[in-house]
Amino acid sequence: KDFRNHIKPNWCPGCGDFSIQAAIQKACAANGLEPEELALVTGIGCSGRLSGYIKSYGFHSTHGRSLPVAQGIKMANQELTVIASGGDGDGFAIGMGHTIHALKRNIDITYIVMDNQIYGLTKGQTSPTSDAGFVTKTTPDGAKENPIAPLKAAMASGATFIAQSLSSDIKGLTAIIQEALNHKGFSFVNVFSPCVTYNKINTYDWYKENIVDIADLEDYDNADRAIVSKYLEEHNGMLKGIVYQDKEAKSYAEHIESYNDTNNVHETPEVSENDFKELMASFK
Ligand code: SF4
Repeated sequence: KDFRNHIKPNWCPGCGDFSIQAAIQKACAANGLEPEELALVTGIGCSGRLSGYIKSYGFHSTHGRSLPVAQGIKMANQELTVIASGGDGDGFAIGMGHTIHALKRNIDITYIVMDNQIYGLTKGQTSPTSDAGFVTKTTPDGAKENPIAPLKAAMASGATFIAQSLSSDIKGLTAIIQEALNHKGFSFVNVFSPCVTYNKINTYDWYKENIVDIADLEDYDNADRAIVSKYLEEHNGMLKGIVYQDKEAKSYAEHIESYNDTNNVHETPEVSENDFKELMASFK
């Protein structure tokens, strides 16, 4: 299985997005997918270019709208594996409404956010995940707002799969994406992907020093909401691994199926030409 299309990405040398591209390609191959079984939808931003760099169906949508497009594709063709992707601006600013509703809807797609805590494509402004005090051209005295907490927001929105990793850990990230693709429902994967050109604070080294692997937390149980919430709070959201998973929750497709069963929606009513004429006459 080869998900390379041999188009050379035009990301800056060293950008974290390269490794995320590689991890997605490796995970899809390891899961036995064929390129024609995958649809990859992106939004706008440096990350948005990803849909052009992987051999699959690709859709480079509008700003913050990768999730509505991806959900529409999945609803129209349940056989496809669908991945949506975008940056922290795309997913947590203009697209935040879609993110929250996709989390609660639990449609069986995987959403990968390439989070670098800055707007890279527009040359370095504060993003929703930038830390308070972060100095950019638009915040010369430091950002005056606290950042969004994506993992806590996902928990509060009814997520059934939440994971987080570093782009530099390709092996770990590949394993997480494989699990995300296998999860029955919506999988949210936040990946810290350093912007080496505009963010000189949140670097590869900074992430390695500040993130805590859940494998190192003795009593961690990613099925226990209370434990997950406790550690998210204690480590300010900086956890690495499959942070939370509910394997029993019904996916959107299962909800529709059980609704249809209960209401006999599968039975197509017989309508004769006469019935149709009577119906039309009743509107006159
Ligand atoms: Fe990557 Fe930043 Fe360059 Fe964009 S500007 S390609 S995020 S390093």
